[in-house]
Amino acid sequence: MGIALPGIPDIDRGIVTLSRTLSSKDISIAKLTEHIPYPCFVENDANAGGVAEWWNHQEHDNMVYLSIQRGVGGAVLLDGVRYMGRHHHSGEFGHMCIVPGGQRCLCGRRGCLEAYCSTARISSDLGITREEFFEALEAGNTEYQKIWSDYLDHLAIGINNIRMVLDCDIILGGVLAHFMGPYLDDLRFRLRNISSFETTGDFLKLSRYLSWSTCVGVALHFISDFIDSI
Ligand SMILES: [Zn+2]
Repeated sequence: MGIALPGIPDIDRGIVTLSRTLSSKDISIAKLTEHIPYPCFVENDANAGGVAEWWNHQEHDNMVYLSIQRGVGGAVLLDGVRYMGRHHHSGEFGHMCIVPGGQRCLCGRRGCLEAYCSTARISSDLGITREEFFEALEAGNTEYQKIWSDYLDHLAIGINNIRMVLDCDIILGGVLAHFMGPYLDDLRFRLRNISSFETTGDFLKLSRYLSWSTCVGVALHFISDFIDSI
Protein backbone atom coordinates (compact mmCIF):
# COMPACT_ATOMS: atom_id res chain seq x y z
CA MET A 1 0.00 0.00 0.00
CA GLY A 2 1.29 3.42 -0.93
CA ILE A 3 0.69 6.24 1.55
CA ALA A 4 1.32 9.83 0.50
CA LEU A 5 1.37 12.52 3.18
CA PRO A 6 2.01 16.28 3.26
CA GLY A 7 5.15 15.72 5.31
CA ILE A 8 8.73 14.57 4.90
CA PRO A 9 9.30 10.84 5.49
CA ASP A 10 12.51 10.06 7.36
CA ILE A 11 12.78 6.32 6.79
CA ASP A 12 15.95 5.96 8.92
CA ARG A 13 14.19 7.42 11.98
CA GLY A 14 10.84 5.79 11.11
CA ILE A 15 8.89 9.06 11.19
CA VAL A 16 7.25 11.62 8.95
CA THR A 17 8.37 15.09 10.02
CA LEU A 18 7.00 18.61 9.83
CA SER A 19 3.53 17.80 8.60
CA ARG A 20 2.02 21.21 9.26
CA THR A 21 -1.14 20.47 7.30
CA LEU A 22 -1.86 17.63 9.75
CA SER A 23 -0.95 19.86 12.72
CA SER A 24 1.71 17.44 13.85
CA LYS A 25 5.50 17.57 13.84
CA ASP A 26 6.32 13.85 13.96
CA ILE A 27 4.19 10.91 12.85
CA SER A 28 5.45 7.39 13.55
CA ILE A 29 5.46 5.37 10.32
CA ALA A 30 5.15 2.14 12.35
CA LYS A 31 2.02 3.46 14.07
CA LEU A 32 0.61 4.69 10.77
CA THR A 33 0.94 1.29 9.13
CA GLU A 34 0.53 -1.15 12.05
CA HIS A 35 -3.00 -2.21 11.06
CA ILE A 36 -2.30 -2.54 7.33
CA PRO A 37 -1.50 -6.18 6.46
CA TYR A 38 0.50 -5.30 3.31
CA PRO A 39 3.94 -3.94 2.51
CA CYS A 40 3.72 -0.15 2.88
CA PHE A 41 5.57 2.68 1.19
CA VAL A 42 5.32 6.18 2.70
CA GLU A 43 6.14 9.17 0.54
CA ASN A 44 5.72 12.94 0.49
CA ASP A 45 2.61 13.71 -1.57
CA ALA A 46 4.24 16.28 -3.86
CA ASN A 47 7.25 14.06 -4.49
CA ALA A 48 4.95 11.19 -5.44
CA GLY A 49 3.09 13.50 -7.82
CA GLY A 50 6.37 14.64 -9.34
CA VAL A 51 7.49 11.08 -10.01
CA ALA A 52 4.19 10.31 -11.74
CA GLU A 53 4.42 13.38 -13.97
CA TRP A 54 8.04 12.66 -14.83
CA TRP A 55 7.07 9.14 -15.82
CA ASN A 56 4.49 10.61 -18.19
CA HIS A 57 6.74 13.41 -19.52
CA GLN A 58 9.96 11.55 -20.17
CA GLU A 59 10.88 13.84 -23.04
CA HIS A 60 12.08 16.32 -20.39
CA ASP A 61 15.58 16.08 -18.96
CA ASN A 62 14.80 18.17 -15.90
CA MET A 63 11.41 19.08 -14.54
CA VAL A 64 9.68 20.83 -11.68
CA TYR A 65 6.33 19.61 -10.40
CA LEU A 66 4.32 22.32 -8.64
CA SER A 67 1.37 21.03 -6.66
CA ILE A 68 -1.33 23.56 -5.77
CA GLN A 69 -3.99 22.52 -3.32
CA ARG A 70 -4.60 23.61 0.29
CA GLY A 71 -0.90 23.12 0.69
CA VAL A 72 1.54 24.25 -1.99
CA GLY A 73 4.57 22.09 -2.62
CA GLY A 74 6.42 20.29 -5.33
CA ALA A 75 9.37 18.31 -6.47
CA VAL A 76 12.53 18.92 -8.48
CA LEU A 77 13.48 16.06 -10.81
CA LEU A 78 16.91 16.08 -12.42
CA ASP A 79 17.17 13.50 -15.19
CA GLY A 80 14.24 11.73 -13.56
CA VAL A 81 15.83 11.59 -10.13
CA ARG A 82 14.32 13.61 -7.32
CA TYR A 83 16.67 16.21 -5.91
CA MET A 84 15.87 16.14 -2.20
CA GLY A 85 18.33 18.66 -0.77
CA ARG A 86 20.40 18.33 2.38
CA HIS A 87 17.36 18.43 4.70
CA HIS A 88 14.81 16.97 2.26
CA HIS A 89 13.31 20.45 1.88
CA SER A 90 13.86 20.74 -1.85
CA GLY A 91 10.64 21.57 -3.68
CA GLU A 92 8.98 23.35 -0.72
CA PHE A 93 7.89 26.07 -3.11
CA GLY A 94 4.91 26.98 -0.95
CA HIS A 95 7.21 28.67 1.55
CA MET A 96 9.10 30.78 -0.95
CA CYS A 97 8.54 34.41 0.06
CA ILE A 98 6.85 36.35 -2.75
CA VAL A 99 5.59 39.33 -0.72
CA PRO A 100 7.98 40.50 2.03
CA GLY A 101 5.96 41.24 5.18
CA GLY A 102 2.82 39.96 3.43
CA GLN A 103 0.03 37.66 4.56
CA ARG A 104 0.69 35.23 7.39
CA CYS A 105 1.41 31.64 6.29
CA LEU A 106 0.70 28.41 8.18
CA CYS A 107 4.46 28.01 8.58
CA GLY A 108 4.48 31.12 10.79
CA ARG A 109 6.29 33.37 8.30
CA ARG A 110 4.79 36.08 6.15
CA GLY A 111 4.37 36.44 2.41
CA CYS A 112 4.83 32.79 1.38
CA LEU A 113 3.46 31.59 -1.96
CA GLU A 114 1.13 29.25 -0.05
CA ALA A 115 -0.37 32.19 1.85
CA TYR A 116 -1.53 33.60 -1.51
CA CYS A 117 -2.09 30.50 -3.64
CA SER A 118 -3.48 27.85 -1.30
CA THR A 119 -6.81 26.76 -2.80
CA ALA A 120 -8.31 27.85 0.54
CA ARG A 121 -8.06 31.42 -0.83
CA ILE A 122 -10.70 30.57 -3.47
CA SER A 123 -12.83 28.20 -1.40
CA SER A 124 -13.03 27.97 2.39
CA ASP A 125 -11.93 31.61 2.88
CA LEU A 126 -15.01 32.60 0.87
CA GLY A 127 -17.27 29.98 2.46
CA ILE A 128 -17.73 28.15 -0.85
CA THR A 129 -16.30 25.14 -2.70
CA ARG A 130 -13.72 25.39 -5.48
CA GLU A 131 -16.42 24.27 -7.92
CA GLU A 132 -18.72 27.08 -6.78
CA PHE A 133 -15.90 29.60 -7.14
CA PHE A 134 -15.17 28.67 -10.74
CA GLU A 135 -18.86 28.48 -11.66
CA ALA A 136 -19.39 32.00 -10.33
CA LEU A 137 -16.20 33.16 -12.05
CA GLU A 138 -17.47 31.82 -15.38
CA ALA A 139 -20.83 33.47 -14.76
CA GLY A 140 -19.10 36.85 -14.51
CA ASN A 141 -18.92 37.48 -10.74
CA THR A 142 -16.77 40.62 -10.64
CA GLU A 143 -15.68 40.15 -7.01
CA TYR A 144 -14.35 36.67 -7.83
CA GLN A 145 -12.74 37.93 -11.04
CA LYS A 146 -10.69 40.38 -8.97
CA ILE A 147 -9.73 37.66 -6.46
CA TRP A 148 -8.77 35.31 -9.30
CA SER A 149 -6.70 37.94 -11.06
CA ASP A 150 -4.74 38.63 -7.83
CA TYR A 151 -4.37 34.89 -7.31
CA LEU A 152 -2.93 34.40 -10.81
CA ASP A 153 -0.56 37.36 -10.37
CA HIS A 154 0.90 35.82 -7.22
CA LEU A 155 1.04 32.37 -8.77
CA ALA A 156 2.89 33.82 -11.76
CA ILE A 157 5.50 35.39 -9.44
CA GLY A 158 6.08 32.02 -7.76
CA ILE A 159 6.34 30.15 -11.06
CA ASN A 160 8.62 32.80 -12.55
CA ASN A 161 10.96 32.53 -9.53
CA ILE A 162 11.17 28.75 -9.92
CA ARG A 163 11.84 29.13 -13.62
CA MET A 164 14.60 31.70 -12.99
CA VAL A 165 16.40 29.30 -10.65
CA LEU A 166 16.02 26.05 -12.56
CA ASP A 167 15.26 27.00 -16.20
CA CYS A 168 13.25 23.89 -16.95
CA ASP A 169 9.67 22.91 -17.70
CA ILE A 170 7.23 23.33 -14.83
CA ILE A 171 4.26 21.00 -14.50
CA LEU A 172 1.31 22.49 -12.63
CA GLY A 173 -0.59 19.84 -10.67
CA GLY A 174 -2.73 19.31 -7.59
CA VAL A 175 -6.45 19.94 -7.36
CA LEU A 176 -6.11 23.40 -8.92
CA ALA A 177 -5.03 21.74 -12.18
CA HIS A 178 -8.60 20.40 -12.61
CA PHE A 179 -9.80 23.97 -13.11
CA MET A 180 -6.81 25.56 -14.85
CA GLY A 181 -7.43 24.49 -18.46
CA PRO A 182 -9.41 27.61 -19.48
CA TYR A 183 -6.98 29.91 -17.59
CA LEU A 184 -3.64 28.46 -18.64
CA ASP A 185 -3.12 30.97 -21.47
CA ASP A 186 -3.90 33.84 -19.08
CA LEU A 187 -1.31 32.53 -16.60
CA ARG A 188 1.26 32.12 -19.40
CA PHE A 189 0.55 35.70 -20.51
CA ARG A 190 1.28 36.96 -16.98
CA LEU A 191 4.50 34.92 -16.99
CA ARG A 192 5.55 36.53 -20.27
CA ASN A 193 4.97 39.96 -18.75
CA ILE A 194 7.16 39.44 -15.68
CA SER A 195 9.93 37.25 -17.08
CA SER A 196 13.34 38.88 -17.50
CA PHE A 197 13.94 36.61 -20.48
CA GLU A 198 11.94 36.23 -23.63
CA THR A 199 9.46 33.40 -23.22
CA THR A 200 6.11 32.32 -24.57
CA GLY A 201 5.29 30.83 -21.17
CA ASP A 202 4.88 27.42 -22.74
CA PHE A 203 7.41 25.96 -20.28
CA LEU A 204 4.38 25.83 -17.99
CA LYS A 205 2.31 22.72 -18.63
CA LEU A 206 -0.68 21.19 -16.94
CA SER A 207 -0.40 17.92 -15.08
CA ARG A 208 -1.68 14.93 -17.04
CA TYR A 209 -2.88 13.08 -13.95
CA LEU A 210 -4.38 16.16 -12.26
CA SER A 211 -5.07 15.37 -8.58
CA TRP A 212 -4.40 11.65 -9.24
CA SER A 213 -0.67 12.28 -9.67
CA THR A 214 0.05 11.44 -6.04
CA CYS A 215 -1.76 8.09 -6.25
CA VAL A 216 0.00 7.18 -9.50
CA GLY A 217 3.36 8.19 -8.02
CA VAL A 218 3.17 5.95 -4.96
CA ALA A 219 1.81 3.09 -7.09
CA LEU A 220 4.80 3.46 -9.44
CA HIS A 221 7.09 2.66 -6.51
CA PHE A 222 5.68 -0.88 -6.39
CA ILE A 223 5.52 -1.22 -10.18
CA SER A 224 9.17 -0.22 -10.40
CA ASP A 225 10.12 -2.78 -7.73
CA PHE A 226 8.20 -5.45 -9.63
CA ILE A 227 9.88 -4.61 -12.94
CA ASP A 228 13.29 -4.70 -11.22
CA SER A 229 12.47 -8.17 -9.88
CA ILE A 230 11.77 -9.81 -13.29
ZN1 LIG B 1 5.09 29.51 4.68
